[in-house]
Amino acid sequence: MRIVIVGNGPGGVELANQLSGEHKVTIVERENVLHYSKPMLSHYIAGFVEKEKLFPYSFSWYEKKGIDLNLGVKAEVIDRARKRLITSDGEIPYDVLVIATGARPRGPTFEGKEFVQTLRTLQDAERIKEQIEKYKDALILGGGFIGLELVANLAKAGYRVRLVHRGSNLLGLDEELTKAIMEKLEGYGVEFYLDANTLKADENGIFTDKGYVEGKVKICAFGVIPNKEIAVKGGIHAGRGILIDDHFRTSAKDVYAIGDCAEYNGIIGGTAKAAMEHARVLANILRGKEDSYDFEFRSTVFKFGDIPVALIGKTKGEGKWFDEKTKIFLEGEKVIGAVVIEDVRKAMMLEKKAKAGVS
Ligand code: FAD
Repeated sequence: MRIVIVGNGPGGVELANQLSGEHKVTIVERENVLHYSKPMLSHYIAGFVEKEKLFPYSFSWYEKKGIDLNLGVKAEVIDRARKRLITSDGEIPYDVLVIATGARPRGPTFEGKEFVQTLRTLQDAERIKEQIEKYKDALILGGGFIGLELVANLAKAGYRVRLVHRGSNLLGLDEELTKAIMEKLEGYGVEFYLDANTLKADENGIFTDKGYVEGKVKICAFGVIPNKEIAVKGGIHAGRGILIDDHFRTSAKDVYAIGDCAEYNGIIGGTAKAAMEHARVLANILRGKEDSYDFEFRSTVFKFGDIPVALIGKTKGEGKWFDEKTKIFLEGEKVIGAVVIEDVRKAMMLEKKAKAGVS
């Protein structure tokens, strides 16, 4: 089969890795750079990781695998009737097309947005790194995982770092967990401004409804918008993302979607871990093997500086401290989720329990 994948992010590259020995696999990627690790970008900006270490796969890896990698080529239109992908560099016929176009950051809309940047690509990271090295400070807007990765690494590197978040809870967690994570990050010197709405930005900082917060280098981490445009143009059904069923099928025959661009039942993966798991399950489905992905069950370990924080399964509602670093969420006697600060081994054990729904 000719499998054509749009996107060389973790979803696309893992699918190619899985299927390259069995099928003719082509990747079309608009960025003119090899696959790099987005989870490592804040470590790179902070100076803890050399640029070379961001690239897990070399050109020769693709070559050895027999993957036809097309960098700097944009997928533009899906010609469903002729089963061809029209790109900026010509047409590519497919038997199966997989859209793994990821997402882009939700930018700010307030006045002075030109003073604020976003982080998604290596190019963004290089620009931000240069500015932070020049101004020695950073002001991060948003208390999700990208915001926390950034503040932790930059503060650990010795920069003056402030985090402004409009809500009172970090990572969408409850007050106690927010406090526990804040205490850890305050240890690095991060200054938090919670419940603060940003009204406008200027060159030297931002105006919030709680006052002015200084910061030359301002990075907005407000979440992401799935890249669904190529599907929409091709008449494929989309909501927030590209709509898929539980087998990653879109509304078009032989066209699938995985990773951050895909939406199942209102759920968008949003992590590299989910994108790679989607790829592994889709590879089995395309092999004709029975496999399934539990979209409702999410589990990821984020690394905030040196502090791993694992979010497993359902982490909302009434939780109970298991020990001082672990909060578990129960349904009756069964563990349905947990948040584990620092102890990754315990997190893996709890993930197994939560997946199996045992007490
Ligand atoms: P992407 O990685 O976005 O890749 C999609 C690719 O498709 C891109 O390379 C894009 O250029 C290409 N593309 C898009 N449109 C076209 C087109 N029309 N033609 C050709 N190519 C196209 N996740 C974690 O699990 N843990 C973490 O600690 C973590 N930290 C993160 C830190 C940062 C700073 C960022 C930005 C993200 C982080 N994530 C983390 C999230 C994770 O990186 C994403 O969820 C993941 O990259 C999604 O993978 P994907 O393959 O779906 O999409």
